[in-house]
Amino acid sequence: MQLGISVQRLDAELLKGFDVVLVPIRQVTGRVKQIYPFVNARPVVSCFGHTMAAKRSELVAVSEDGLPALPGKHNLRDGFAWGWVCPNADEYRQELLAHLTKVATSEWSRLHLDSVQFPDANYCHCPRCRTKFAQSGMADWWDWRASVITEWVATVAERVGKPLSLTLHPDPYFLRERFGTDMEALAPFAEWFLVPLYCLTYDLTYWLDTLLYAFVRRSPRPVFVELYAVEPPARGLLKAMAAVAKFPVAGIVFYDPSAQKVRAVAQLLREDKEVRQLVAAHPNQTFRQLAERLAEWVKSVSEPESDKPTSLEAGG
Ligand SMILES: [Zn+2]
Repeated sequence: MQLGISVQRLDAELLKGFDVVLVPIRQVTGRVKQIYPFVNARPVVSCFGHTMAAKRSELVAVSEDGLPALPGKHNLRDGFAWGWVCPNADEYRQELLAHLTKVATSEWSRLHLDSVQFPDANYCHCPRCRTKFAQSGMADWWDWRASVITEWVATVAERVGKPLSLTLHPDPYFLRERFGTDMEALAPFAEWFLVPLYCLTYDLTYWLDTLLYAFVRRSPRPVFVELYAVEPPARGLLKAMAAVAKFPVAGIVFYDPSAQKVRAVAQLLREDKEVRQLVAAHPNQTFRQLAERLAEWVKSVSEPESDKPTSLEAGG
């Protein structure tokens, strides 16, 4: 099982212990970062999640009853964490494709696409989507929505000519119906799928079981699981790792922008006698191997310094 990390800042020494390194360069807020390509890292490009662009009324995705797909007071019912642009907005798609092409022509060897979907089942009913559906010749609304997303990913794959991976919304049962993301149809374009399973504590892990059992059964591509490593305590993350390691997933990616929590987990694994004993006696070999790898990794890296000269970030 592979180990990965999603970070805000690339540091050669810090990251050498990970098989997969994700670095967001275009975020769901709309913020774009310039980061120099790095050997085993994948830039993460948010596609239709873009709060800044979604504030433009002609671009935002709209529900059947006219609510905009925006966070906060603009749409209290659907509780979006960021704004969503209509996946059929041609002007936006052209700008996004130009951005992706620019990223692809730099030295990144592969790309990761985030938020490649409709916001939810009752979106998007903007006049543009209604017209395009009518002109599509397709009889079924849900088939048409899925074709919009699949064709977009196919277009990106052809344009960038580099391996792609994709984030999926963590609903293995109704992905196609709710978001237009059809795992089977997207499989030819994706090396693997990333499933974010975030929790602030990981006190309870039964829901990781529920979702991963289904994703592993249903996904035609390898599944990576993204665990949230900002607020959860190190022990909670270990518990989550053990829960994920039960399943034949391809790997675990920690969302740890400053790489501090992963360091804390590694130190716990090395320095806490009780934890060491628990891990050593754990019946799951995959979990033991992951834990041992993390513990070894922290031994090999020095403490971070804010002005470290090996930083590869070009600017904020
Ligand atoms: Zn629309």
